[in-house]
Amino acid sequence: MSEDLARFEDVENPVMPYLRQERIPHIWCPGCGIGTTVNCFARALTESGLDLDKVSIVSGIGCTGRVAGYMRLDSFHTTHGRAIPFATGLKLANPRLKVVVYSGDGDLFAIGGNHFVHAARRNMDLTVICVNNSTYGMTGGQVAPTTPLGATQTTMPYGNFENPFNLPFLADACGAVYVARWTVFHVKQLTRAMKEALLKPGFTFIEVLAPCPTLYLRRNRLGDGVDQVKYYKEKSTIKHGADTKEVGLGFQSDIVVGKFVDRERPTWLDSMNQHFSKVLGTRFQPWGGSNGED
Ligand code: SF4
Repeated sequence: MSEDLARFEDVENPVMPYLRQERIPHIWCPGCGIGTTVNCFARALTESGLDLDKVSIVSGIGCTGRVAGYMRLDSFHTTHGRAIPFATGLKLANPRLKVVVYSGDGDLFAIGGNHFVHAARRNMDLTVICVNNSTYGMTGGQVAPTTPLGATQTTMPYGNFENPFNLPFLADACGAVYVARWTVFHVKQLTRAMKEALLKPGFTFIEVLAPCPTLYLRRNRLGDGVDQVKYYKEKSTIKHGADTKEVGLGFQSDIVVGKFVDRERPTWLDSMNQHFSKVLGTRFQPWGGSNGED
């Protein structure tokens, strides 16, 4: 172990047991917001009381996609955009698992957009955490489905003219049972939201706004990661239950954060079991319920 790593040996840090410390140092740039989300996620896992042997994390490709590799959980780093179908297979093969998809906005909503829409529609029992930094970080700062109008990207050097997704509205419209948005400034609220999402059956979704200083901020002359966290602090308003149609984001616009949706719907597994029990006139539960109960 390097001297740098050895320094951490004696430090009591509640997050460290959740990390594969042999993989540290991580690849993220100084000021990147992804590490803060991991910190919140580790704390949420502790607070959730979940058996970590039954928690799996699945990531796609991209800077956020590296999260699965750093967490000391059963983790899967899958192909670009396919984290949700992979996670769906995992959940259906073993309903006792709590399956978390942890990925970026480009991975989840561009190449993976179709999978997101259908998993939410079906109320597949997954928790999806999207770190939204408004760009493709790992591949060089191309325009993403979340890049605000007017923002400059390598593939939009004169400013983006494509309308971005409003992610909470998309998740809500598709049927997600839990939808929240926070930023990396709101660490306590984000931790609480992650815990709530982990414990709620069905398709739960959290958007986390996080800075990408290397590509998005630099190209748009917005300063560094700390400057963006100050922007999150100054421009965010907490509005629980806000109409998700009204929470779209503009370039450095006001931000609405909060828990927007918290509703009940049968999960896909529960629906299937109920449906076939009715159709076949017998108790049908070959794969268990949403939590794998017999
Ligand atoms: Fe973070 Fe951007 Fe660096 Fe990727 S490129 S690690 S998103 S700062």
